[in-house]
Amino acid sequence: MSHKFLCNASLHAAQFALDQELAQSCRQSGCWFCGGRLHVSNYPRKPRGVPPPFREGYAQRLSFTCAECRCRCTPPSVRFFGRLRFVAVAAILIAALTRGPSERRCRQLERCFGVRLSVSTWQRWRRWWRERFVSTRFWMQSRGQFADPAGLGRLPAGLLGAFSGRLVERLLLTLRFLSPLTGGPLRAV
Ligand SMILES: [Zn+2]
Repeated sequence: MSHKFLCNASLHAAQFALDQELAQSCRQSGCWFCGGRLHVSNYPRKPRGVPPPFREGYAQRLSFTCAECRCRCTPPSVRFFGRLRFVAVAAILIAALTRGPSERRCRQLERCFGVRLSVSTWQRWRRWWRERFVSTRFWMQSRGQFADPAGLGRLPAGLLGAFSGRLVERLLLTLRFLSPLTGGPLRAV
């Protein structure tokens, strides 16, 4: 993993296009609560973990509010993973690192992503993937698409390994696969 990898413009453009698709499909289905018409109501995000030239593409989370009941409907996203300070691509890459957290590796990540991650936060992420993710409704419903879900090994690294293509392609497929966790009925982050 390198800073250079995150400077791949097509990686960021593809994520933005995927988020627009997810948002469009959410808007077409109408309000989750009353079926009403949805109005664009994006909210600002402070992107972390992407090089400065690409931050603008992460400045807004696409979202809607219902014209009738005023409820907010935020579609799934491949760019943001819950309330994490890191954008999803950086959060997944860090969580997929096979070597565990240490002060030295946290300093390396700080140089790579330009944001400080503490050893304890990193450990918490690892615990989340190990203990919480595997019991989410999302994983219960979707693990069947892998021939041997138990054989994937440590997650999310196992997901990256299960998809084919170059790393950029596998990363996009992983983000797309995980996106229901970030918005809608299966949201868990
Ligand atoms: Zn509504």
